[in-house]
Amino acid sequence: MARYTGAVCRLCRRENKKLFLKGERCYTDKCAVTRRATVPGQHGKARARKSSEYGIQLRAKQQARRYYGVLEGQFAKYFEMAERRAGVTGENLLQICESRLDNVVYRLGFAASRKEARQLVRHNHFTVNGKKANIPSILLKEGDVVAVASKSDKLKAVVEAFSARPVAKWLDCDKANMTGRVLSLPNREDIDLDVEEHLIVELFSK
Ligand code: SF4
Repeated sequence: MARYTGAVCRLCRRENKKLFLKGERCYTDKCAVTRRATVPGQHGKARARKSSEYGIQLRAKQQARRYYGVLEGQFAKYFEMAERRAGVTGENLLQICESRLDNVVYRLGFAASRKEARQLVRHNHFTVNGKKANIPSILLKEGDVVAVASKSDKLKAVVEAFSARPVAKWLDCDKANMTGRVLSLPNREDIDLDVEEHLIVELFSK
């Protein structure tokens, strides 16, 4: 299963924006965007000044893709799905990304970052509706229940992350039983991603 394996802080610096890809470090002064707010590379300062219409649309797409840890091909598939759904395509796209299992695990507070959530899912630490689920890209729907697998509830990373972060409004978390339920798929106002999704739609519509 393909995934980005490079330095994640570099992705934030490229977007000149915190994408919160590293868990608790993102909230400290050690954050690379805080320390070096320039585009990475020898000509980073010069590149930061360029912004054509296409460039702005491209950056919006890259920010969303990197935020959710989705590669190019899968993101294009999500866009096709979003177009087929009723409603606003840009909002549908973000809703689809939010409904990924790794994102839901992160939003429930079971992991410090989406990257960590992805790894925990891959290592069989979660179930969906009582069944083993180790594919981070599974798309959840209203009513689905995510639970920490019975042998994993003492896992240090899970327990530490569990109590540290607030839970998204569209999810219900049962801390005592280490389970979470999707109450409804999120609206745009429930998604705290600072990106103009209509720019992504414009880019894909060219
Ligand atoms: Fe991005 Fe977090 Fe790294 Fe800051 S610490 S650059 S927010 S991944």
